[in-house]
Amino acid sequence: LLAAHSSGGVATYHPVLDQQSLRRLQLGTELETAMAEEQITVVFQPIVDARTADIVSVETLVRWAHPRYGDIPPDDFISLAEQIGRIGPLTDHVLDRALDRCRRWLDQDIAISVAVNLSARCLSEPDLVARVRGALRHHGVPGELLTLELTEGSVVDDTVRNSNVLGELHALGLRLSMDDFGTGYSSLSQLRQLPIDELKIDKSFVLGMSTSQNESFIARSIVELAHNLGLRVVAEGVEDEVTRDLLAQMGCDKLQGFLVSRPLPEDRLEGWLLARTGVRSAAPGARHRRL
Ligand code: C2E
Ligand code: MG
Ligand code: MG
Ligand code: MG
Repeated sequence: LLAAHSSGGVATYHPVLDQQSLRRLQLGTELETAMAEEQITVVFQPIVDARTADIVSVETLVRWAHPRYGDIPPDDFISLAEQIGRIGPLTDHVLDRALDRCRRWLDQDIAISVAVNLSARCLSEPDLVARVRGALRHHGVPGELLTLELTEGSVVDDTVRNSNVLGELHALGLRLSMDDFGTGYSSLSQLRQLPIDELKIDKSFVLGMSTSQNESFIARSIVELAHNLGLRVVAEGVEDEVTRDLLAQMGCDKLQGFLVSRPLPEDRLEGWLLARTGVRSAAPGARHRRL
């Protein structure tokens, strides 16, 4: 795909450029335009404390509102952005939106942290740490209020492990979270050695908890593992009360899922927050209360 893209035509060594490759090729060029024309936006999904139900964080999730195809989900274009070498700028954009949101809360004495997903490819970009540091400085947000979500696949990579990029990110004060935990290959010794602060139980386990003993058992094991390693644990994909209550009983620290809220565009997040806490964070001059 890359060769075909950069030479501007169909590479001769491709016997057949099938429909799917063609669509990807086309989307790749359109992604450039999309980023320039602000078709790439973000939504925010609240994460709450499992005991108190207070909002503690929001995860920033990228969206592509395509003028002809409608909304393209991130799973369909993140890998594409990686392949055409645009994942860096895309991540910078999402990080900027997240820190901007965080900064405006801070201006109102509200401390809600923001989480940003980092794809595997980003961890091997030599200037990643400098860019994250620069973004925190630009927005005046303390590192403590930023969480970077990594996947297991990205941290088992040798070059990443050897480069100490995780250690340098951690030194900025931010939190590192292992996303989709339970689906990858990280070993216990890696979990102990890496500067990871948190595990996120993959939603494939959480979604089955209310109906399957097996999934519940896996979730419970992950909660215990995390706590034994001194890590915090978050469950994603919490869709019903039964699951929420099970997780709370297990001692899971934080919850995220459609039961709490779907991912919301910024204006609707404001409404959600107001309805939930009585805090109007968007309106200037409103009475502020610390969460
Ligand atoms: P993720 O980081 O594991 O994000 C959680 C995904 O689960 C989101 O899908 C979210 O909408 C969905 N979700 C949350 N609660 C529930 C629930 O209760 N039930 C169900 N069925 N789903 C729930 P989304 O937004 O489509 O994102 C998919 C993946 O794309 C993310 O998984 C993440 O790996 C990736 N992604 C999203 N934004 C970014 C980004 O800015 N950068 C990078 N590198 N990856 C991103
Ligand atoms: Mg995530
Ligand atoms: Mg996840
Ligand atoms: Mg995922």
